[in-house]
Amino acid sequence: MSNENQSNETITFLGTGGARFMIISQNLASGGLWFNFNGTQILMDPGPGSIVQVTKRKLNPQELSAIIVSHRHLDHSADVNVMTEAMTEGGFEKRGILFCPRDALEEDSILHNYLRKSLLGIEYLEAGKSYTVGNVSFTTPVKHIHLVENYGMIFKTQKHTIAYITDTRYFKELSDFYHGDLLMLNLTFLHPRTTPSRPGAPLDHLAMPDAERLIKDIKPKIALLTHFGMGVWRAKPALVAQELTEKTGTKVIAAEDGMTFDLAELDKI
Ligand SMILES: [Zn+2]
Repeated sequence: MSNENQSNETITFLGTGGARFMIISQNLASGGLWFNFNGTQILMDPGPGSIVQVTKRKLNPQELSAIIVSHRHLDHSADVNVMTEAMTEGGFEKRGILFCPRDALEEDSILHNYLRKSLLGIEYLEAGKSYTVGNVSFTTPVKHIHLVENYGMIFKTQKHTIAYITDTRYFKELSDFYHGDLLMLNLTFLHPRTTPSRPGAPLDHLAMPDAERLIKDIKPKIALLTHFGMGVWRAKPALVAQELTEKTGTKVIAAEDGMTFDLAELDKI
């Protein structure tokens, strides 16, 4: 399949599930996000089943310019090996850049050693740095609070700015680091929760009140929710999005498995 004639900007959700119980049940898929920004195609956070979702959606891994991994947790990185092999035609065609935090290779490697030589390069994500892939640039404005090294991104395409806040504990300054026409949020929990091993400490994921604050502070044209844990799934993501729309006055959409969001939607607002 060729995308040469595709001049638009789209985000395809290869999965909208997040956190361990959702991942091991696969009530929602966990394949990550596929960006196609005027022909520059990037795979973001290939969790378990990414290769299954990519082939099912008839996307072509050989057209990828990069794979970005926000952090080394399994639901964001499990299929990075097979997707590297798919991107590089079984390892025979050197292609693509892997972007990931340093600890995802040097501390607890997400990538088999034998696959490294198939890549054109590896670039480490660091707070405050900028990167370029084809006609897209992105920054990783701040290190998130999330047990392992983890970054969100601000993508600049030819027409739009997209903020993507990946897994993190909420912190007051978070919204200062992000801006965009579109805000994507990993909404893993319905309610803020604590962890049994660290009584009183919030688990390092965003919950609904955090999403409300972030949307109000960042004021995007549209907010897209994804990476749902069991609680959000049971509450029905579409209803959660509707409630957040009412509370924030911003159009909030819950992503669905297989959904393709056309960034032209932003121009209508
Ligand atoms: Zn995580």
